[in-house]
Amino acid sequence: MKKGLIVQKFGGSSVANVERIKNVAKRVAGYKKSGYDLVVVVSALGDTTDELIELAHKVILEPPEREMDMLLSTGEQISVSLLAMAIYKLGFEAVSFTGAQGGIITDTSHTKARIIEINTDKIKKELRKGRIVIVAGFQGATLNQDITTLGRGGSDLTAVALAKELRADECQIYTDVDGIYTADPRIEPKAKKIDFITYDEMLEMASLGAQVMQARSIEVAKKFNVPIHVRSSFSRLCGTMILKEVKRMEEVVVSGVTLNKNEAKITVCNVPDRPGVAARIFKDLSGSGINVDMIVQNVSHLRQTDISFTVSKADVLRAIKLTRSVAKSIGAGEVLEDQDIVRVSVVGVGMKSHHGVAAAMFGVLAKNKTNIEMISTSDISISCIIQRKFAESAVRALHEKFKLAK
Ligand code: ASP
Ligand code: MG
Repeated sequence: MKKGLIVQKFGGSSVANVERIKNVAKRVAGYKKSGYDLVVVVSALGDTTDELIELAHKVILEPPEREMDMLLSTGEQISVSLLAMAIYKLGFEAVSFTGAQGGIITDTSHTKARIIEINTDKIKKELRKGRIVIVAGFQGATLNQDITTLGRGGSDLTAVALAKELRADECQIYTDVDGIYTADPRIEPKAKKIDFITYDEMLEMASLGAQVMQARSIEVAKKFNVPIHVRSSFSRLCGTMILKEVKRMEEVVVSGVTLNKNEAKITVCNVPDRPGVAARIFKDLSGSGINVDMIVQNVSHLRQTDISFTVSKADVLRAIKLTRSVAKSIGAGEVLEDQDIVRVSVVGVGMKSHHGVAAAMFGVLAKNKTNIEMISTSDISISCIIQRKFAESAVRALHEKFKLAK
């Protein structure tokens, strides 16, 4: 009996070795047997992508991005072909595709390409033949047939985009955890699995440091209302459903606590307080492709002020160099850096209709003797920059305060 179409995505840890690839093949075959059409997206085996990046850096410090994409795309080609073979061995017909063969056409921004369109003709043709179609995640090709990649964690995006384009009934994201948790269970053992979460909350959590799904993929899922089921490839349990709206019996104010250790803080001291100065600093940074996150400017004192902001750790050296040169040219003082900071955030759509969440959060941090260095808010999240040594205890204290424990 025909049951509909499912897009399944298996992350690197789910296909880290031959045993696990065979396990994935069994799972896929089981769905096929029960009547589903299947398109399966896979990431590179285990840490392959990291290893390939390291390899490139042994050859050259700043590899040309086009060649980087050429190199990284090979990781996913290994996993799609091996999975196709494993499924074959179980007596089912499977065919593997690169991103380009799967019809994924992107723009030319190598290493972070955007999908322009997907031509699903070839996939549909194979599905009609009754085959399981396996598509390499994280990659596409430009109209000029240059291979591109979609940014780290991009297999999620491949899966969501294919689910949208093929009008799949569900997009299942298989990973090594049971779903989305109220906090990282390695930090807070009392963290519990969330059964339902909204796109907005998930997007906020992914951007603020929850590492389960790529933020860009959630944006696409939200835009086209693609239902996502995040679950473990090692168990049969239901995971977390990500949906547009979640009807909760009782109002939940905070849905989760996240921690991001990936940022560094830069402070420009004694910035002359006159129009156009902030514009200068941030224009140069954005011109170099450096994403600036939280920004705080202090009240000016004697016509001078301090400006602090955060950037990703990967960009910090470049950012300091640039900021020092701008600081000099605008007559500002020292440029300081602090890499020992983290961002701790609370996220929840319930915040929109509740007040006092910020006060409660600051109160918890105060009780934890944690100094808040920067604060930023959105309508469904509050983030504080604090010293790294307080990170774990802050997560646990906030988790407790907002009653997220099992
Ligand atoms: N293999 C790529 C990465 O590690 C894409 C992915 O895993 O989704 O970033
Ligand atoms: Mg990966």
